[in-house]
Formats: sequence, C-alpha cells, structure tokens
Amino acid sequence: LEIAVLGAGAMGSLFGARLALAGHAVTLLDVNAAHLAAINEHGLKLVTDEGECRVTLPALRPEEYDGRPELLILFTKTLHTRAALESVRSRLGADTWVLSLQNGLGNAEAIGEFVAPQRIIVGMTTYPGDLAGPGHVESHGPGVIHMMSADGAASPELNAIAAALNGAGLVCDVDPGVHVSIWEKVAFNGALNSICSATRSVVGGVAAVPVARALALAVVDEVVAVARAAGIAADGPKVRALVEHALEAHGGHKPSMLQDVLAGRQTEIESINGAVVAAADRLGVAVPNTRALLALLRVVDGNLKAG
Ligand code: NAD
Repeated sequence: LEIAVLGAGAMGSLFGARLALAGHAVTLLDVNAAHLAAINEHGLKLVTDEGECRVTLPALRPEEYDGRPELLILFTKTLHTRAALESVRSRLGADTWVLSLQNGLGNAEAIGEFVAPQRIIVGMTTYPGDLAGPGHVESHGPGVIHMMSADGAASPELNAIAAALNGAGLVCDVDPGVHVSIWEKVAFNGALNSICSATRSVVGGVAAVPVARALALAVVDEVVAVARAAGIAADGPKVRALVEHALEAHGGHKPSMLQDVLAGRQTEIESINGAVVAAADRLGVAVPNTRALLALLRVVDGNLKAG
C-alpha cells in the first residue's frame, strides 16, 4: 500500500516503521523539525522487545508531500487533527482511506470534515509508544488494534488494511463493536490521565491517596453511564478492574497527558473529559467528577497557553 502517516510522533513512528519494514511505501509527515531531520539523516531508530533496528523512510512536512496515499494514518494528538488534515487536504483523493486510532471521542466526526464517511476507519489501540528522542521511538509490551469503518460497513478495502497491519506485526481485528473499546479507553483515560495531569503526579501518587482512588473509580462509573445512555455497552466492572490494576502495578507510570503537561504542551482533555461532559449534557447524565476534572485541566491548559 502507499501509506502516509500524518503525525509521526510516538505512535505514528511506530506504525510507520513497522509498515515500512513489511514492504509498504510509507511516508512520515510531521511538523517537528528535529525529528524529521534525524529520520532523514540516520533513519528511524525503532526499539522493541524484538531488538533494535533502523528504518529508512522519507519524513516530510505535510505541505511538502505530493503523493496520493491509499491509506492515511492519522496519529496527531486530537487537538491537532483539523490543522494537520487541512495541510494535506489536496492529497486526499476520493479513494484515500483515513485511519484514526487516536484516543478520545469525536475522531470520525473531525475527519468527516475532510473525507467521506465511507472512507474513514476509527478504532482503538493498546500498543504503547514513546518518542525517546528525535528519530528514536520505543515500544515495549504487547498490544492490539480494534477498528471498524465509521459507517459500519464491511468491505474488501477495510479487510486489506487490517491484513496490512497484521502483516506488519500489528495485531488487528475488524470489530463492529469498536465503540465499546473506544469508550472504555475514554473511561480509563478520563479517570487516570486527567487526575495525574491535574495533580502533576505519577499513577502511584493517586494510588497512595484513598479519596483520589475513589475519584478515579467515580469517573469510570460516570463515563460508563454516559456510554450506556448513548447505547454503547461499555463494561464498568472491567474498566474499574483495569484502573485498580494500573493503581497497583504501574505506580511509576506517567500517563501521556501528564507528559504533555510536563513538556508544556496542550492536552487532549477536550476529546476525553470534554467530549464526555458534552455527551452527558446532551443525554441528561450527571457527571460531576468528570466535569470537575475538565475544569481543572482547562485551567492547566489555559496556563500553558498563557506561558
Ligand atoms: P505524539 O505527541 O508523540 O505525536 C504526535 C505528533 O503529531 C507529534 O510528532 C507532532 O509533532 C505531530 N503534529 C502536531 N501537529 C501536527 C500537524 N499539524 N501536522 C502534522 N503533524 C503534527 O503523540 P502520540 O503519543 O503518538 O499519540 C498520538 C495519538 O495516539 C493520541 O491521540 C494518543 O492519545 C493516541 N495514543 C497514544 C498511545 C501512546 O502510547 N503513545 C497509545 C495509544 C493511543
């Protein structure tokens, strides 16, 4: 496949490198000049549990790209989705598929401003990715991808894209129930990412404070209630167990939203807690804890923006 990865940070670099190694024609598109320069000079360094390798592939600013991708994989943070897609609008043909495995809600709607719903694939991935430095991505531990076309239709093209991911060692299934996975991850992130980011604390700091643990679980219950009111059968006990496990086992973990705050970058809070609160208001579900965390993160983001 001819593939463009728009937003080639931690996840975009991981996916782009694996697909290039599997023989696809991959171009990475990003706005991080140091990262682009490192990839073009030395190749992309990929470190996984299988070892280390260097992948040679082109890395450009989006407006420099003159290809016509069969598949565009969107891996910016959600707050940059529209600006990024705008910068490649002229490259998106009627036959271009756009795949988003970004976190949060509303990804299909944002992409739908640029391509037809029949060409959008949305999903969820548990693959971890870390940008260790310019041109250097790390991913350790297993992962999975659940995805489905935004209009819910099965097609040979959708299956071919899933096959390409699987062929690149990225375990993937086509799953009509993908919205359950998307909402369950939003429930997890809406709880732990936002508390850690508001408090600038690793997960262990939350685990050590009983009332903070209770807050995390209360957010999970709220998000699951909103999902269920929206007709999505999210599994509350399952997400609660995942949060409890993270609190016990991953005390040193810095959620990606916390990493953004510590690096002075705007967060994805609007597509996580923000989108949940908007849906809750539409559906008449009370979400006081999720809303309070949204308020705190808006202050954090506002202060970051103000410098
Ligand atoms: P990241 O910050 O490492 O990468 C995002 C990249 O987008 C950056 O390199 C940035 O320079 C680039 N970018 C910003 N604006 C752009 C623009 N206008 N045009 C082109 N590129 C632009 O983020 P990430 O960790 O790779 O996460 C990407 C998405 O995947 C997020 O929605 C995140 O929540 C989700 N996700 C991340 C992980 C993870 O472990 N990192 C796991 C699952 C899902």
